[in-house]
Amino acid sequence: MSSIFLPPTIQPIYSAIAQRSGVDLSVLRLDCMHPWVNGNKWFKLKYNLLEAKQKNCTTLLTFGGAYSNHIFATAAAGNLFGFRTIGMIRGEERLPLNPTLSFAVQQGMQLFYLDREKYRQRKTTALHTELQQRFGEVFIIPEGGGNLNGVRGCMEIVNTAAFDTVCVACGTGTTLAGIILSLQKGQRAIGFPVLKNGAFLAPEIDSWLKNYLASGFPIVNEAMSTTGYAYASWELICDYHMGGYAKVNDELLMFSQQFTQEHGIPLDYVYTAKMFYGVMDLLKQGFFPVGDRLLLIHTGGLQGNLGMEKRLLQ
Ligand SMILES: *Cc1c(COP(=O)(O)O)cnc(C)c1O
Repeated sequence: MSSIFLPPTIQPIYSAIAQRSGVDLSVLRLDCMHPWVNGNKWFKLKYNLLEAKQKNCTTLLTFGGAYSNHIFATAAAGNLFGFRTIGMIRGEERLPLNPTLSFAVQQGMQLFYLDREKYRQRKTTALHTELQQRFGEVFIIPEGGGNLNGVRGCMEIVNTAAFDTVCVACGTGTTLAGIILSLQKGQRAIGFPVLKNGAFLAPEIDSWLKNYLASGFPIVNEAMSTTGYAYASWELICDYHMGGYAKVNDELLMFSQQFTQEHGIPLDYVYTAKMFYGVMDLLKQGFFPVGDRLLLIHTGGLQGNLGMEKRLLQ
């Protein structure tokens, strides 16, 4: 299953700010692993697809907004690995379909729409039972791939990298939880919530860690099993949401353009641009210790820029 993916490259960033701070900066390019199935969303899908296969389930059903990276990745991965896919989309159908949803349909995904009230029930057994009755045997993957299978996949993200501090953008924090569970002694993780008041994620990430370790899922780090999560040195920095989820301002747009020009790395506006902006700002403030080897995770999401740029031009 993994053979069609390129291993993520680690790209050094030569930046005057980092050099002045004595910090070593690299980017882990999860965005380059496959043209469509990439970023953290592939890691969150991987063990869900394997479980579906094991259970002989041939249809995947999942949930997402109209611009969702997860819907995009699930449609493409389903097509690649021979699953039928069903996307339950939040809100009403709007035609013509936006770039995300038309791609999903091209990949063979069937789309259905849930009004906001119904969508709020997306985690309930009641709705799942209803969907099983309507569509037959389907393997249900939660929105964003946010389950323990998702956490498990994210434990493989920083596998091959040497670093002291790893930085990642957070929506639900599932990806950060997986990364935390794979930390080695002396390493730490910093999450950058892209939602307003992101501190609410801390207890949720804590629950992911506890649930994961209690679940009997495989661990990579022996210290985790005996001492709880001994190496889990992590924190959230909540100041770089730029007004909230999928909100952008001129400063972020400028930063993103400049960064791409200087370093040849495209960023998505919803997640990675905010994290990279935050890291660069923190570097200016001397937040990171001299000698720190920083690894920034490029979690992908570039498909979303198409829809975003269209909206910005209107
Ligand atoms: C979904 C997503 C995230 C956030 O992942 P969580 O596990 O929900 O925290 C970060 N970056 C990109 C590009 C994403 O698509």
